[in-house]
Amino acid sequence: MTDVLTPLGERLKDPTLLKDGALIDGEWIRASAADGFPLYNPATGEVICYLPIMGTAETRDAIASSEAALRGWRATSAINRSNILRKWAELMRDSADDIASILTAEQGKPWDEARGEVIYAAGYFDWFAEEGRRVYGDVIPSNTEDARIIVLKQPVGVTAGITPWNLPAAMITRKVGPALAAGNTIVVKPAALTPLTATAIAELGLRAGLPRGVFNIVTTSKASEIGDEFTSNPVVRKLSFTGSTGVGRHLMRQAATNIQKVSMELGGNSPFIIFDDADIDQAVEGVVSAKFRNAGQICTAANRIFVQRGAHDRFAEALKIRAQNVNVGNGFGEGVEMGPLIDQKGFEKAEAHVQDMLDHGAILLAGGHAHELGRTFFEPTVITGLESDMLPWSDETFGPIASIAVFDDEDEVIAKANDTEYGLVAYLYTHDLGRTFRVSEALETGMVGVNTGRVSNQMAPFGGVKQSGLGREGSKYGIDDWLELKYINLAGLSR
Ligand code: NAP
Repeated sequence: MTDVLTPLGERLKDPTLLKDGALIDGEWIRASAADGFPLYNPATGEVICYLPIMGTAETRDAIASSEAALRGWRATSAINRSNILRKWAELMRDSADDIASILTAEQGKPWDEARGEVIYAAGYFDWFAEEGRRVYGDVIPSNTEDARIIVLKQPVGVTAGITPWNLPAAMITRKVGPALAAGNTIVVKPAALTPLTATAIAELGLRAGLPRGVFNIVTTSKASEIGDEFTSNPVVRKLSFTGSTGVGRHLMRQAATNIQKVSMELGGNSPFIIFDDADIDQAVEGVVSAKFRNAGQICTAANRIFVQRGAHDRFAEALKIRAQNVNVGNGFGEGVEMGPLIDQKGFEKAEAHVQDMLDHGAILLAGGHAHELGRTFFEPTVITGLESDMLPWSDETFGPIASIAVFDDEDEVIAKANDTEYGLVAYLYTHDLGRTFRVSEALETGMVGVNTGRVSNQMAPFGGVKQSGLGREGSKYGIDDWLELKYINLAGLSR
């Protein structure tokens, strides 16, 4: 993986996984340079390919295809749906190298990290293949002797998903896995910046035996047209969205028209709290994972790092040295730990956050500038002196900027950590068990990582509170969002 300039097709063992089109009713629809939108490699700026700009009419076709497929798919036994999902997961693992190359080319993250995401993403198909087989109902004692109350769990129907560019494989499978396991059909709109990972996964779905129309993909550079159709078409009974809080809010308003079910996985502004008694080396590695992984472009990224006064200087110095040694480069380069930011807008945001902090008196310890590789590359950055009037306090940085604030006691840091409209995840480093419980319970977030910088896995309920979202993905709870309860009052049982 050292030749960073090899064209994408030549990297793949199976070049037929490169699908530069949308998938509607089992057919690939392609575009030309004249009528498509360009997809860029964020590390090199080269155009990878052109994809179809789909709008209302094509989205309507995709929804109609999912509607036609629904009857057969929901009637398919849970075990047969499960078998297809497990086969799909297997095919993803077999092609993990190829999908990782596609992902790195369009998203920029290091190839090993991309491969890790593919394996992680396939795990959602495995997990929900099993959960789909355990969608149990209930039989409840009735209020009359001659009746029984029976509760069924049924698929919602035709559903839609909209996903972001930062985790282009996992954000698809985390929705499509439970949707299909539960017997729904789904139309997905992947991010315009990373459609090829989604289409490669879709191609493997067809190979695994998905009937046409069960999973459709619409691509576009006109997201709002697709969003409008997803939320206004009465056939679509649920929208699952992962992305920014602003777009999520807008889609929720639109979904209110048809009282459409919604799941929202939105933005974060995660506090990362390090107490004096913490293992500082472990805390540094935790921050590296939660801050420099994917160049800080993850919803669970540590946005505000709070360090207790007694540990502050030691921690800041250790993180500075670690940041200066992060190997930045094209994701295809050997040993690269951090790739470029996704685009110029992302780069400018990182720059603005650094500048704003420096303007307000923060102190730069490492990085802070465009990386010598140019374009969208930004240096891993460490800044101390974060205060509430600085941008990262209230705004998701989405870049490799570790912003550190100092605190003195537990109550103070809880208040500061909760001083945000977001509530996705918080991290906590301490060896004091009582404090672990007190602080974890007081934090207004959907998830807490204790002595770890990672919280995402298939087994756990992922999701936020406050303006970070509604609903949970993954875990035994994750399938509930894709099911409706139906109660049957079965009477007349007495002789
Ligand atoms: P974004 O701008 O909100 O875009 C997300 C998706 O929504 C993309 O597919 C985008 O399409 C689409 N979109 C934008 N405007 C739309 C509209 N009016 N109608 C319908 N769809 C629309 O977010 P992003 O920049 O891609 O992703 C970063 C954000 O996602 C961050 O805030 C991050 O925290 C959040 N995120 C949350 C989670 C979680 O699980 N909580 C996970 C990952 C990311 P285009 O690509 O075509 O613009």
